[in-house]
Amino acid sequence: MSQPTSTSPDLDSFCLLDSLGLRAAGQQIRRDRAILECRVTEDDPWCRNCGAEGLPRGTVVRKLAHLPLGWRPTVLWVRVRRYRCADCGTVWRQDTTTAAAPRAKLSRHAVLWALKSVVIDRMSIARVAAALACSWHTVNDAALTAGRQLLIEDPHRFEGVKVIGVDEHCWRHTGRGSHYVTVVIDLTPVKERRGPARLLDMVPGRSKTVFKTWLDAQSKDFRNGIEVVAMDGFTGFKTATAEELPEAVAVMDPFHVVALAGDALDQARQRVQRETTGHRGRTGDLLYGARKTLRTGADLLTEPQSRKVEKVFATDEHVEVEATWSVYQKIVAAYRHPSKKHGKQLLGEVIASLRRGIPAKLVEVKKLGRTLNRRAADILAYFDRPGTSNGPTEAINGRLEHLRGTALGFRNLANYITRALLDTGGFKSLLHPHLR
Ligand SMILES: [Zn+2]
Repeated sequence: MSQPTSTSPDLDSFCLLDSLGLRAAGQQIRRDRAILECRVTEDDPWCRNCGAEGLPRGTVVRKLAHLPLGWRPTVLWVRVRRYRCADCGTVWRQDTTTAAAPRAKLSRHAVLWALKSVVIDRMSIARVAAALACSWHTVNDAALTAGRQLLIEDPHRFEGVKVIGVDEHCWRHTGRGSHYVTVVIDLTPVKERRGPARLLDMVPGRSKTVFKTWLDAQSKDFRNGIEVVAMDGFTGFKTATAEELPEAVAVMDPFHVVALAGDALDQARQRVQRETTGHRGRTGDLLYGARKTLRTGADLLTEPQSRKVEKVFATDEHVEVEATWSVYQKIVAAYRHPSKKHGKQLLGEVIASLRRGIPAKLVEVKKLGRTLNRRAADILAYFDRPGTSNGPTEAINGRLEHLRGTALGFRNLANYITRALLDTGGFKSLLHPHLR
């Protein structure tokens, strides 16, 4: 790469005015902002209607927020000439579309700066708006529109995707209930050990139809490229995958299998608690006091924790909790096994052991056994495809939760989806070529 050459200082190039078709004609340094008075470089005297030369008829000022120079909001006051055609009477203004989109309040550089601040620097819209001395809505509209055009609508975004995760995410709680979206994550970078997972898309609703419709709307190349779909226990995602991607392998994610077993353990503990004490667990109760320790992997327990577990199970009344706990622990141990081959064998044995002959009293284990047996193939498929865990999906879900918490004002789902994609869509590298 050649060294940039030194030239005389020049406000137009320094402030990126030249690339906007503007030149500086004056400046005002105020306490809260800097104003650059600009002229449009190109004359624009030819009549739009008949081509005759127009006569200047005064000027108007178009105000544009520019990128903050020196941490100070910078505003361009662009003096735009008006013309009137002597022949046909048509009136027009100098063309400023190089500087900003029609009716836009931000210069083209300010829009890119706002987008970069959101995508790369993870700034909130409120902070970007403060830096540009614009309203939240102005900046939000500008950044989201640019993000859609430059990044989200980029067709190459869906290329090379081989592993996806599908999950649901609650994006908004209201008095009338919770509002869900179906989230599709690209897990290919994790599988191929070249980067983090990225949010690929987000669609309103959660149902078999939602996911099926989404898959159907993608290109044939995309669908043919999908080898693995990681998912939770929701049957709808499984059915949609089987119908739309018959060649792909459905993998039920370890995170969700362990969560199902953990739920069974919690429910058994709560049931036995009520049956033996007549009330819900509270401080001082043996079972209640051990609720977290019981869900810790047995191999990770400290000495005092082990004694606590032993104490809980020393009581005959707690035998059903112990039986459920042991199923949970076997499942955790199978996933933890350093050899995927042995892990698969161990988990296969646990699932097979839950197929029949479970005492009726162990309601939670029975229910868990039914689910695990129904999805046994998908659960065990994980062991043949390391790196297809939906774990990253959970991580992205966590980031979306955080975003929802900070991005107050996203009452509009389309805007929320765009913002979520810009935040977790892995767009950094895609944005770089647009910046200068
Ligand atoms: Zn004319």
